[in-house]
Amino acid sequence: MHYDLLIRNAHLHRQQELVDIAVKDGYFASIAQSDQGTINLAPTTSATREIDVGGRLVMPPFIDAHVHLDAVLTVGQPRYNTTGTLLEGIQIWSTRKASLSREDVKRRALEAIRWEVAQGTLHIRSHVDVCDPNLTALRALLELREEVRDICHLQLVAFPQDGIFSFPNGPQLMRRALELGCDLVGGIPHYEWTRDMGVEDVHYAFALAKEFNRDIDCHCDETDDPLSRFSEVMAADTLQQGWQGRVTASHCTAMHSYDNAYAFKLIGLLAQAQIHVVANPFDNVVLQGRFDSYPKRRGITRIKELVAGGVNVALGHDSIMDPWFPLGRGDMLAAAQLALLLCHLNGYEEINTVLDLITTNAAKALRIQDSYGIEEGKPADFLVLDAPNAFEALRLIPVRLHVFKAGREVAFTSPARSVLRRSGDNEEKTVTFHL
Ligand SMILES: [Zn+2]
Repeated sequence: MHYDLLIRNAHLHRQQELVDIAVKDGYFASIAQSDQGTINLAPTTSATREIDVGGRLVMPPFIDAHVHLDAVLTVGQPRYNTTGTLLEGIQIWSTRKASLSREDVKRRALEAIRWEVAQGTLHIRSHVDVCDPNLTALRALLELREEVRDICHLQLVAFPQDGIFSFPNGPQLMRRALELGCDLVGGIPHYEWTRDMGVEDVHYAFALAKEFNRDIDCHCDETDDPLSRFSEVMAADTLQQGWQGRVTASHCTAMHSYDNAYAFKLIGLLAQAQIHVVANPFDNVVLQGRFDSYPKRRGITRIKELVAGGVNVALGHDSIMDPWFPLGRGDMLAAAQLALLLCHLNGYEEINTVLDLITTNAAKALRIQDSYGIEEGKPADFLVLDAPNAFEALRLIPVRLHVFKAGREVAFTSPARSVLRRSGDNEEKTVTFHL
């Protein structure tokens, strides 16, 4: 058998034995245990290209389940956020939003996508601010969604940044976004002027989702206010409308501040409704806890308890150099490391589950699991990390040596090399950062 590509001696997450992976016509054709460097697939196996990855970790692609591509790379425009707060970020964005153009949005979004793809993220769900009578950003990203299909799968959420009912013509703009081809319905219940309007925000998202047969992803309870309780409304609507598995609640940072009895009840309800929760560690940790003196809350949702309670949890990068989060380079592995630190997920077994948050769990949230994963017959989307396992990947944040989409190498990176010179020693020694 002649294959297009053979990956030898790959370590798959949570598998003991190394495997050899054969790719043909863009799909995983065969996966078999490595046998001292000799592929077990068939004695006459050959391939156009062969890579021996020497026991390195081979993963399905990373997934960014929540980002704002319309706002990326605008940091400092027209000015930097001096307080670092959510509110000042919203003020700066409202100014910057007025000068958006199709070219401007597409150029910045494409650059951020290039950063993400180079680091192994091949599926991105982006929220797009639709509180704009011209829907400029949405029209730009709908075009870009088609133009980047060779490197990335993009899902777009109609996101009412300034509220559905607290913004002029908010409901009409949401509807128009879906008519134009937006993939999902969003919402922002906690940001509406009143609690009642927040409940209506959720109900409206469900009504649109039913009418257009779309999934839902609302920004929900992104506040430290322990009385912000819209996740329960999303769960109730999900059960009543039969939308189980099709609904994501993003952020849910108020859950950090709920009393434990209510959090326990809510987590059970979210699990029953099969709601996906997406946490965004970069933004959550800098934007929440801003009204605290000391102690300061971390502000991220209860990832550990949600996972233990049977709720599917994924992660997003959320911001990449925008008014809310000035740093970032579009690396989901870095987001996963931060979640590990913030949520006490540093138990030895827990470290393995952290990689699920940016891979298999996120695939369920994006509902792409049927074509996702390193299995025979599925599209050959995968990456090779310069690390032997999940533990080392999350410790080192190593480069992604190779990134393949449908069997085609869409990105590669050479590892950096550090060399140490001792005094009086002419010998240069490489520093490996390994035990
Ligand atoms: Zn967001």
